[in-house]
Amino acid sequence: MPVSVTIDHVEKYFGSFHALQDVNIQIQPGELFFLLGPSGCGKTTLLRCIAGFHAPESGRILMGDEDITNLPPYKRDTGMMFQSYALWPHMTLEQNVAFGLEMRKVPRAEIRERVRVALDHVHLADRAKSRPNQLSGGQQQRVALARALVIDPKCLLLDEPLSNLDAKLRLEMRQEIRRICKQQELTAIYVTHDQKEALSIADRLAVMKSGVVQQVGSPAEVYRNPVNRFVAGFIGECNFLEGAVESRGDAGAKIKTPYGTFVTTRCADTLSPGTFVTLGIRPESVRFDTPPAEGANVLAGTAQETVYLGEVAQRVIRLSSSEKNVEPFQLKASELNPLVAGTPGETVRVWVAPDQVMVLQ
Ligand code: ATP
Repeated sequence: MPVSVTIDHVEKYFGSFHALQDVNIQIQPGELFFLLGPSGCGKTTLLRCIAGFHAPESGRILMGDEDITNLPPYKRDTGMMFQSYALWPHMTLEQNVAFGLEMRKVPRAEIRERVRVALDHVHLADRAKSRPNQLSGGQQQRVALARALVIDPKCLLLDEPLSNLDAKLRLEMRQEIRRICKQQELTAIYVTHDQKEALSIADRLAVMKSGVVQQVGSPAEVYRNPVNRFVAGFIGECNFLEGAVESRGDAGAKIKTPYGTFVTTRCADTLSPGTFVTLGIRPESVRFDTPPAEGANVLAGTAQETVYLGEVAQRVIRLSSSEKNVEPFQLKASELNPLVAGTPGETVRVWVAPDQVMVLQ
């Protein structure tokens, strides 16, 4: 049975440096949960606290109902997979995978069977007698996964497991990791700074900044309703415009910015006229078709360069302000058909639907 993992008011210091600040996360049994954030935000520190390599100064870590805060790592039933595969080059794959079971004094016949099953799960049963240097990077990563899985952990901990692989292999392996976690009903906690990796396979994720959890939710929740400017900019791309509330009605608010006025239906009831706010507009929310009505949410600008991103083209539109001393704003807009977005230098009109204008802290 998969277990829940509870992180309860965890604090961690390195000397006077406050690496984890009152971290509270509840991970459900069988969930594939991501810790996401920029370099140095404390992801690995939190993972190492869960594994038992760091002791928090205060707070508790529970696996199911059991308080494991003070248990040594080898008593925690966690399997760990690191960025470097850390395979022993002189051992065959089956010897590499068997190592953890030998350390636990599991009987020989059982070791043989469990290693076979683990290698089978990662589709490498036929390479059991090979050595690591005879395998590709992706295959070596699978062996590392088999080695973490073979001890039958209650919780799998993954620390940037794919960062050594090229882009294509990373795509394949992330689906593979999700498949295995779901097939084995494992609770897994996965650290990465790659938001695409997290968005594509996470059940839920926590976004961290400077040791503080900013938001916990499903990829769609966090992408659609980021709690603040940091999360909006870290998960996906976002245009930020500063403005002030002009009026507030039942249907939403009118926000005045130096580049135009926006009506938004996505704002708190407490927002009052005169309050300064940041608006967040995703590039894919910027539209080039005819707006329902002229006026609010329609912006005119000059088309700038195009960046092709494969499935979409990203246009930069230079919005200028009628106010004095306001720099032009480079609005990013994604468009499936780059031809509608104007050639560089051309004047274009774009608009944003009121339910796509986010109001951020
Ligand atoms: P990355 O993505 O770069 O691995 P991270 O979010 O995993 O970053 P951590 O490794 O958790 O970050 O580090 C968080 C902060 O704690 C960093 O500023 C780091 O320098 C500091 N830190 C981590 N381990 C130690 C340690 N053993 N002693 C002192 N400071 C540490």
